Amino acid sequence: KHQGPDLKSVLATRKSNLNPALFTFYKEPVYIHQGHMQYLWDVSGKRYVDLFAGIVTVSVGHCHPTVVAAAGKQMKKLWHTTNIYLHPKIHEYAEQLAAKLPGNLKVVVYLTNSGSEANDLAVLMARMYTGVFDCISLRNGYHGASPYLMGVTALSTWRYNSPTGFGFQNAMNPDPYRGPWGGKHCRDSPAQPQRPCDCAKGQCVACDNYVDQVEDVLRYSMPKGRVGAFIAEAIQGVGGSVQLPDGYLKKVYEKIRAAGGLCIADEVQTGFGRMGSHYWGFETQGVVPDIVTMAKGIGNGFPMGAVVTTPEIAQTMGKALHFNTFGGNPVASAVGLAVLEVIEKEKTQALCAAVGTYFIKELDKLRSEFEVVGDVRGKGLMIGLELVKDKATRAPLPADEVASIWEDTKNMGVLIGKGGLYGNCLRIKPPMCITKEDVDYSMAVIRVALQNHASKK
Ligand code: PMP
Repeated sequence: KHQGPDLKSVLATRKSNLNPALFTFYKEPVYIHQGHMQYLWDVSGKRYVDLFAGIVTVSVGHCHPTVVAAAGKQMKKLWHTTNIYLHPKIHEYAEQLAAKLPGNLKVVVYLTNSGSEANDLAVLMARMYTGVFDCISLRNGYHGASPYLMGVTALSTWRYNSPTGFGFQNAMNPDPYRGPWGGKHCRDSPAQPQRPCDCAKGQCVACDNYVDQVEDVLRYSMPKGRVGAFIAEAIQGVGGSVQLPDGYLKKVYEKIRAAGGLCIADEVQTGFGRMGSHYWGFETQGVVPDIVTMAKGIGNGFPMGAVVTTPEIAQTMGKALHFNTFGGNPVASAVGLAVLEVIEKEKTQALCAAVGTYFIKELDKLRSEFEVVGDVRGKGLMIGLELVKDKATRAPLPADEVASIWEDTKNMGVLIGKGGLYGNCLRIKPPMCITKEDVDYSMAVIRVALQNHASKK
């Protein structure tokens, strides 16, 4: 039973004492109290199916008992920094985390406290290693909001009228739904198993046009065609679950490496089995990056991040001091280990594949039922649904209409994320323990919300 302050006083404190830029998502904010696995409860005891998992931070389930027990046990023993003394946990964790990665990446792990810290470090590493400052990221990508990363993140919503981290050029992202060359069939989708496209064989004009956009940035904007790094998500999370066409990263990585650059995969949202078919997002693209960054799901909601790279790249960083007080502290390492254990024991990746595929196929049926459902995309439990005014123009559904659909789903007990440049994409990224029954319930709710919206027209 909730015994803290009521909603009114919490809202007043928020207004007077907290960051005024914080937003509460809903018209009537959800005042949450407790979480268990895929569910959240508000202070009145109302239950919600959490399809957004606190922006994909909760991977194996809210307050998963194994993770809670591991954190509790360690908290009773030692919380101190383990970067100046030796402690077994960080070593055990580094070994087990690295073992999840392919190739030469299996080796060096840096532990941080957030995704932004991880990406800051990855970019620094690439610049030190290559000796080239200028780098490339994709439009519509989100990689963090530190001053350094504001120039890497290429979504105007996250930019301010102040100098952003310079040295990054943002290439056009391959958006198979909204991009100029389409490429809907280039995506690997459970909703469209038969694809009339030969992307995998490298013979797709749509894919090639998008790859050429990166080539153009290399040619026109990089000093003497040299590049320090290229960073991308396999599915652009904050950007509205925009799924890169098959084989896109393979071709881009080749170009980046030919220009002397390193390839960074941002797995902050896509990692740890969420894609279903693979443990990491980059694997769905058939590539092996030089640096991989992780956060959010890595700690099931505990503030953690990591950078994994090869010994050669790590050597360069070893030339100067690098230090992070809390990164990999015993509690974080215990939590990280417990998360890896749960993913393994509960066959979480296979669950993502089965339940996610079912969810995507069910959502795809909405496209023929509702004019406003323009696109359904994603892999495993990293799903997006784009709302449009009409299918012909693909004009984004106005914000107030998106908000009313969204508010409706919340009122019926389902929490969904929102994103995309126009804020018209519904983002579905639940804890990876969600069941088919939760999907059926959520589908019924989403359908009613869309019907309510259609009836107001
Ligand atoms: N990369 C991606 C793909 C993200 O989605 C985010 C957070 N939304 C970050 C990096 C930054 O992580 P953090 O908020 O922990 O700094």
